[in-house]
Formats: sequence, C-alpha cells, structure tokens
Amino acid sequence: MRKKLVVANWKMHGNLSTNEALIKAYLERLSALSGVDVVACVPYPYLFQAQQLLKDTNIAWGAQNISKDEVGAFTGEVSTLMLKDFGARYVIIGHSERATAYCESDENIATKFIQAQKHGITPILCVGETLIEREAGVMQMVVAKQLDTIINTYGASVFAQAVVSYEPIWAIGTGLAASGEQAQSMHEFIRNKIAEQDMKAAQSLKILYGGSVNPQNAVQLFVMQDIDGGLIGKCSLNAKDFADICDAAAHSNVNAQ
Ligand code: PEP
Repeated sequence: MRKKLVVANWKMHGNLSTNEALIKAYLERLSALSGVDVVACVPYPYLFQAQQLLKDTNIAWGAQNISKDEVGAFTGEVSTLMLKDFGARYVIIGHSERATAYCESDENIATKFIQAQKHGITPILCVGETLIEREAGVMQMVVAKQLDTIINTYGASVFAQAVVSYEPIWAIGTGLAASGEQAQSMHEFIRNKIAEQDMKAAQSLKILYGGSVNPQNAVQLFVMQDIDGGLIGKCSLNAKDFADICDAAAHSNVNAQ
C-alpha cells in the first residue's frame, strides 16, 4: 500500500565535483535496489546537475524550499515552476532550520505546500517539536497546530498527494534519534488526525521520520507501522551510509503490497 520513501536532504553542502562523486556513488549502490523510492533534495544551483546525472535512473530529485509566490518581484526567491523546469518532483517545505532562521510562519508554509501541489510537485512538509515542548508534554499539540493551518485552509484531502516528515527538532543533527516507539507514537497521532477528516488521504499519506537516522538505527524506525521511510540529513552525504539506510527501508517494507 505505502511504499517506503527515503529522502536525502543535502542542506547547504556540496559543489559540482563532490556532488558528481556522491551521485555516482548513490547510483552504484542503489540502482539495483527496489522496494523503496529514493529522492535527493539538492541546493538550487545543482538542480541541473542532479537532472543530468539522475534522469532515467531510479532516484528522483527535488529542492529544499520554494517561494510561496508564483512569479514576480521577489528578489532571491525561486518558484515552483522554476523547479519544474529542472525536473524536480519533490520539495521540502517548512524545515525547522528554515522556520526558525527565516521566521517562516505556518501560513507561509501552508501557501508553499499548496503552491507545490498546484504544479505537480510533491511537498514534503516538516513538522516537529523542540526539546522544551517535548519535556512539557505538549508535542502533540505543537504538531497538531503545524498541521491545522493546512487542514483548516485547504482541507485534509490535500494530504493524499503529500509527504509529512516528523522531525523532532531535538533529534536533528544531534545524533540523538527518537526511539522507534517515540516516533511511531507521533506518526500514529498524525495519521489519526488526518483520518478524522479524510480516511483515504490518511491511508495513502507517507509519513517519514527525520532526525539523526543512521544505518544502525534505521531498521528499528522503519519497521514501525506508521513510519514510511526517512528524511536523512548528515548520513545522506555519505553514499554508503545513505545506501544502507535505503536498504533498511526496502527490507522493512511492512506496508507495501
Ligand atoms: C534534517 O535536517 O532533515 C535531518 C534529518 O538531519 P540529520 O539526519 O542530520 O539529523
């Protein structure tokens, strides 16, 4: 039913020569792998390079942000249509590193989400709580609010063509991943929240886990019922680690038919 999905988030790393080596190493290790969809979300200037090296392969590519606007006088912004020109199929929306550093509001994130869908690009919506929020026991409330802006404005059905990535902020880049149980509990909460309004969308929605996933902890996360794969930061910059994580996803495909 839900095929596993593993997404590389390169963040602001790489150059033409290291990217080429990394993509070639991905392909060497992953071109024969089935049972998992793989995506590389690269910095904007390298979309053309990703397109050249990944077209006609089993790895798709995407970006890490888009403008909420379609076209116009928005200096420094990049539109969804521009991503389409380079064959991008996915875009990360609302990553916490952007939401905090660039003060992105839930409303802006919701507009970007719909903007991507409007042009046939799958949004990967990041949600997640801080450590203080988790310790205060309000993590579900925080994640519910992040989803509500989209649900209340556009309806839960929009999640049928989307990916949500649960990324507890305390786990991103810290080496401290959530346990399988902690992540599963939030993933189940997210799926149930969408299901309250649209059961079909909830069943097809892929919910990824992101935050210090590595080859050692990937299986314990991916075998969970509602964890449909991962968003991978640091380990996506190492082809062997990334391929091992993709392999773990392919072999723990409990929800696939
Ligand atoms: C991320 O930033 O999306 C992420 C999951 O990073 P890392 O894997 O490095 O924790």
